[in-house]
Amino acid sequence: INAIFNMPDRHYPNEAATPLPLEREIRIENLNFQYNEAPQRALADITMTIPSGSTVGLVGRSGSGKSTLADIIIGLLSQTSGTITIDGQNLSPENKENWIASIGYVGQSPFFTDGSILENVAFGLDESMVDREKLLNCCHMAALDTLIDQLPGGIDRPLGERAEKLSGGQRQRVAIARALYRSPQLLILDEATSALDQQSENTIKTTVKRLAGSLTMLIIAHRLSTVEHCDKIIWLEHGKIVMEGSPEDVLPHYRASLNEKTNNVCEAF
Ligand code: ADP
Ligand code: MG
Repeated sequence: INAIFNMPDRHYPNEAATPLPLEREIRIENLNFQYNEAPQRALADITMTIPSGSTVGLVGRSGSGKSTLADIIIGLLSQTSGTITIDGQNLSPENKENWIASIGYVGQSPFFTDGSILENVAFGLDESMVDREKLLNCCHMAALDTLIDQLPGGIDRPLGERAEKLSGGQRQRVAIARALYRSPQLLILDEATSALDQQSENTIKTTVKRLAGSLTMLIIAHRLSTVEHCDKIIWLEHGKIVMEGSPEDVLPHYRASLNEKTNNVCEAF
C-alpha cells in the first residue's frame, strides 16, 4: 500500500483514511487564490456550489484557473482566503486526508506500471485484496470491455512498458476505472479528453453519461461536446466566474467568445 505514496501521480490517497461522505453539496464561498510570487490571483472571488449527485462542467480558456480550482477542491492547494465546505463542514488540515480518500481524480497524464489492467486499476493494492467483480464492473463503467476482450488473458495480461502500447483513449479509460475502483464520492476529470481522438472522446462521453447521477462529477473539458450533458456549466476566465447555468444557456456564449478570438478556436473544438 505504501507504494501508492511513491507513485508520481498528482493524487496520493491514504488508504487508511476514512472517506468523508458527500451527501449535500460542496460549497465554495468568496474564494481567492494566489500562487507564491504570482503578480495576480489565479482565482478571484469564486462562489459556487456543486450539489451532491450532479455533474458540473468547468470550461474556460487555457490559463483561466480550472486546474487550480480543481486542486483546491481536491485539497492539494489551500486557498489564500475564503471557504470551501463539504456538507457544511470546513475543509481543513484535520479532515483533508479523509476528503482526499473520497475523491477519484483523472488528469491528463496518468501514471502506469508495466502490470496488467487489474494491477493498473487496483493501483497499489495487493492482488489478494482485489475484488475482481467490482474491478470488472469499474472497467465496464469506463468502457474497457472491448479492450479486455481483445487481450489474451484479459485483465490479467501484463501490458508491458508502462502500458505504452495502449492508445491515449485506452489509457484514459484505465485511469477512469482506477478512479472508480476507489468508490469515490466525487470524480474529477481534468481535461481527460483533450489528448483524445474523436472516437475515444465519444467513449468517454458515454462513460460520463453512464455514471451521471450515481456520483458527483466535476468535468474540466477542452472539448465542449464532453460537457454538453452536464447539469450545470461554470465558465471561468482570468480566475473569475463569467457565467454559470445550464449548458444550453452558457455554452453558446462561451462558443461565441472563442470564435471572436479565432486563434483559440482550434483549442476548443
Ligand atoms: P487552466 O487549468 O484553466 O489552464 P491553471 O489553473 O493551470 O489554468 O492556471 C491558472 C493561472 O495560474 C495561469 O495564469 C497559470 O500560469 C498560473 N499557474 C498555474 N500553476 C502555477 C504555479 N504552479 N505557479 C505559478 N502560477 C501558476
Ligand atoms: Mg488545466
